[in-house]
Amino acid sequence: MTGARVGSALTDEQQAVRDLVEEFAAEEVRPTAAEADETETFPEDVWDGLAELGLTGLTVPEAYGGFGAGKTTYAVANEALAHGSLAVATALSVHCLATSCIAEFGSETQRETWLPEMAETGRPVGMFCLSEPHAGSNPAEMSTTATYDPETDEYALNGEKQWITNGKRGGVAVVFAKVDDEAHDPDDDAITQFLVPADTEGFEVGKKEEKLGLRASDTTGITFDDCRVPAANRLTEPGKGLSAAFRTLTEGRIGIAAQAVGVAQAALDEAKSYAEEREQFDRPISDIQTIRHKLAEMSTDVSAARLLVREACRQAEAGEDYRVAASKAKYRASEAAMSVTNEAIQIHGGYGYTTEFDVERLYRDAKITEIYEGTTEVQKTIIARGVFGE
Ligand SMILES: Cc1cc2nc3c(=O)[nH]c(=O)nc-3n(C[C@H](O)[C@H](O)[C@H](O)COP(=O)(O)OP(=O)(O)OC[C@H]3O[C@@H](n4cnc5c(N)ncnc54)[C@H](O)[C@@H]3O)c2cc1C
Repeated sequence: MTGARVGSALTDEQQAVRDLVEEFAAEEVRPTAAEADETETFPEDVWDGLAELGLTGLTVPEAYGGFGAGKTTYAVANEALAHGSLAVATALSVHCLATSCIAEFGSETQRETWLPEMAETGRPVGMFCLSEPHAGSNPAEMSTTATYDPETDEYALNGEKQWITNGKRGGVAVVFAKVDDEAHDPDDDAITQFLVPADTEGFEVGKKEEKLGLRASDTTGITFDDCRVPAANRLTEPGKGLSAAFRTLTEGRIGIAAQAVGVAQAALDEAKSYAEEREQFDRPISDIQTIRHKLAEMSTDVSAARLLVREACRQAEAGEDYRVAASKAKYRASEAAMSVTNEAIQIHGGYGYTTEFDVERLYRDAKITEIYEGTTEVQKTIIARGVFGE
């Protein structure tokens, strides 16, 4: 990697995980990334490799066959994986959102039923179904309902979710819905979450979205049409689902921020190598001060973003309220991913604008980090609340 890695005061275990994932990303993930992007196909072999390394159980507690990673370990693994492919890292982080929901909010039976397989084999692949066509930044406006049927002790889910990562390849979904039963009215925002196997009748996967970037990661809509799940599949009390979602997303933001750092670092590495090889005016362009200064700025952006990620991890591991720190890390790291990939293309000149060089894909992929798991505008709203102590 280009330059000394600021913020790398890691424990031996964290360093070992980083080295392991970096090696896997360089040897198994990066070489498949361009073709996976071009063909819009998720590399399932890579997923199986992640499972063999134990990474599909990264955030699953050891008691259920997982790695039980702390936030810093989770972040360094995400950064290293995204250095190889953001599409793969995104699929993993959404799988981890699902396993985290089961681990944190599930019953003992639910944990024992789902977590060991999801951790050890990576199957079923997890999905996290919060967003809807008319409820993105404000999920409280969701309209998916869960109507209780006392005769069968089941809930009937009805509604539509949008932008679901792992939509086609996923096997189990954490689905957020408003409960409609004797004690709750959907108008009361009685949101909860359910575990729904993808083969349940009435679970209908829509068409794959055609996207600017992250093209190897499948994103679909999912419709619930009288999709009946046992009451035992409910994860939280009605009314507690939205706060559970926000809690899970705050954890997830650290992962997305770390992934943005990984993409930015990859672009910086590519730009540095290209600048050393490309000659103009009878010398490598890396001798031109303008290019050197660009690389200096890019390197500083990457380091600053990584430090914000590490600070959010530190606060989380110290048991502090790290919501603002996670938002700062996501905001600044996604901004760095955009600017560093942009400059990496500039350093490549016309070649950078073609699919022949990885920086083109990195630039397209980077944009999503400013949108999902809370847009940049939403992160700034959270940070501003911190400024005013609200
Ligand atoms: C590739 C991809 C994968 C995704 N994966 C998942 C997934 O697995 N599961 C899932 O549940 N969701 C997923 N999402 C959804 C993602 O989290 C949402 O797209 C995101 O939260 C924004 O919601 P929206 O698209 O409806 O935009 P909107 O909420 O409609 O926002 C539109 C614009 O208005 C701004 N805006 C909205 N409200 C405010 C406000 N109060 N203050 C300031 N600005 C505001 C936004 O920042 C944005 O610029 C994914 C999205 C994509 C594109």
